Amino acid sequence: MSPPLSQPSHSQSCASSADDPLERVRAALFHRIGADGVYARTGLYEEVLQRLTAFVTRQRDPRAEVLRFPPVMSRSQLEKSGYLKSFPNLLGCVCALHGTEAEVRAAADSHETGGDWTSSLAPSDLVLSPAACYPVYPIVAGRGRLPRDGGIYDVAADCFRREPSRALDRLQSFRMREFVRIGTPEAIQAFREEWMGRAQRLAGELALPCELDVANDPFFGRVGQMMAVSQRQQALKFELLIPYYEGAKPTACMSFNCHRDHFGVTWGIESEDGTVAHTSCVAFGMDRLAVALFCVHGIELTRWPASARRALEL
Ligand code: ATP
Ligand code: ZN
Ligand code: MG
Repeated sequence: MSPPLSQPSHSQSCASSADDPLERVRAALFHRIGADGVYARTGLYEEVLQRLTAFVTRQRDPRAEVLRFPPVMSRSQLEKSGYLKSFPNLLGCVCALHGTEAEVRAAADSHETGGDWTSSLAPSDLVLSPAACYPVYPIVAGRGRLPRDGGIYDVAADCFRREPSRALDRLQSFRMREFVRIGTPEAIQAFREEWMGRAQRLAGELALPCELDVANDPFFGRVGQMMAVSQRQQALKFELLIPYYEGAKPTACMSFNCHRDHFGVTWGIESEDGTVAHTSCVAFGMDRLAVALFCVHGIELTRWPASARRALEL
């Protein structure tokens, strides 16, 4: 028996996917590349992502220091940041074949004979960056005390989280842009408050419906559930939620995070007066925002609302 010619590559039924607005966007703008949550992106999608990136850049505080990070970061720095306590299930670690030439050859060649070459892998000193802001704190700590006004940073990275999903708004590899503020507790509070208002106005310019709500990180396990409750009670995390289509459960496209003195204590970041600095970050989920634009406004850019076209200089 021969397979049907247009067999879908995954198990989902064609009938339901044709009505699914996210599936329409996926079919028009992405190509599957063999694993859930990772896609080849088309030129049209990247064009919008780049214009969105430029739009975010125009919102940047002129004092901000710009840092761009690679998609991998130091494993020991992430360990020290406490990531394994909170999200061990999401972390991807870079592994490689180590050893002598003969050992590496034997491991690699075992694949040809049906063996499992991956059993010879050993961890390296790198992990895949799970968020853009982690590397900034040790850099700032290494410079000595902060200036009087603290610091503000514009960071970005391709991020990885091991949360494979068929949904276009939950990728394993996605782009994150962040504005990070480091300084006194008052400066941190003011920064986050200002951005929570501003983000809603920016969504308005992009003609995207949105709401702001208190949120929690997806902390791992049973202890994690308690951490999540406490984070909510203390209102340490807010999210900008955008429904991708009418009746859809809104997707978190930005987050506003207060870390209090966590990174200050971990890395020894001091304010001008020698007290431990507090930190906060405002994260833009660039891929989620770009997908939101296409879902809400359609694939045809010329038909997008005037204010969105103006904001994105289309
Ligand atoms: P969620 O609750 O949806 O898992 P999160 O709380 O894990 O989100 P953050 O850690 O605050 O997300 O990350 C900052 C932003 O990065 C999110 O607001 C979102 O826009 C984006 N983001 C996070 N996880 C993903 C993902 N798997 N795919 C695409 N974008 C993501
Ligand atoms: Zn951050
Ligand atoms: Mg998450």
